[in-house]
Amino acid sequence: MKRSDFLKILALSPLSLSAMKLKGLEAITNDLSATEKMPVLFLGHGSPMNAIEENEFVTGFRNIGLDTPKPNAILVISAHWETTGTFVTAMDKPSTIHDFGGFPKALFDVEYPAPGSPELANETKKIVKKTSVGLDEKWGLDHGTWAVVKHLYPKADVPVIQMSIDYTQGAQYHYDLAKEIASLRKKGVLIIGSGNMVHNLGLIAWDKLNTDSYGYDWAIEASEKMKKYILTDDHKSLINFKSQGKAFDLAIPTPEHYLPLIYSLALKENSEKITLFNDKPVAGSLTMTSLKIG
Ligand code: ZN
Repeated sequence: MKRSDFLKILALSPLSLSAMKLKGLEAITNDLSATEKMPVLFLGHGSPMNAIEENEFVTGFRNIGLDTPKPNAILVISAHWETTGTFVTAMDKPSTIHDFGGFPKALFDVEYPAPGSPELANETKKIVKKTSVGLDEKWGLDHGTWAVVKHLYPKADVPVIQMSIDYTQGAQYHYDLAKEIASLRKKGVLIIGSGNMVHNLGLIAWDKLNTDSYGYDWAIEASEKMKKYILTDDHKSLINFKSQGKAFDLAIPTPEHYLPLIYSLALKENSEKITLFNDKPVAGSLTMTSLKIG
C-alpha cells in the first residue's frame, strides 16, 4: 500500500461515504431471549485490507468466530464512528460503509449484508441511564465493524448494530457507560470493541509494512505495559492513559482506536479469564493485539 493511499483514509468525511443499497435479505429473527453469558471481544482491526486478505490475523478472527457460541445479535463499538452524544444504529438493513480511500476496487466491492436489530437498538437505549442514547438511521456498518465481523460470521446471518463513541467524553465516562450495557451479554449479544491498542498512523514504517512482527521500541513498551494492566485488571491505569508517559503518548495520539478497549474491559467480571490473540505489532506503530473476555 502506498503512503498516499493510506493517508487518504484520514481525509474522508462521513459526507463522502457511499451508502450502497443492500440486496434482498432473508428475514432473521431478532430474538433477545435469555442465554448463557456471552464473551466480550476487543478486536485489533488494523488495515481495511484485512477484510479481503488471507493472513494470520484473519485466521485469528475466524478461529474466535468458531470458538464462540453463535450470538443472537452483535453490538460493535467501532473506532470509526465518533459523534457528539451516543448513538446506536437502529435501521433494519444497515449499509456497508466504505469509509476509506485509495484501496483496490475489490475492497470497495465488499458488501456485508447482515441485518440490523431495531430491537437491540431500543433495548440499548432503554438500559443506558448515563445519557440519552440516540437512535440513528443514517450510519450503517463501517469498516471497523464489517472488516472483522465478516471473518467471524461470514454468512452475515447475525444481526449487527453499532454504538458510537462520544468524542467529547473522557475514558472514565466511556468505562462507566459500557458497564450499563452488561446485561446484554445474558441476552445472547456479543459485544465487540473494534480499534487498535497501539495506533499511530502518522509514524507508520512504510518500508516495513510486510515485515513480520515489526514494532518500534516505544510501541512494544506501550503494548507490554497495556497487556500487564489488562491481565492484572488494573483498569484504572488504562483509563488514566494520558498519565502513562511517552510510550503511551506515542501509542495513543488520538483516543478513538483505544477507547473501544476501554468498553470491552469495563464489561469484564472479576472471575472471568482473558485470552490474548493476534498479539503482534505491525508496521512499527500499530498492534493487532486482540482479546477474548470470558
Ligand atoms: Zn481503524
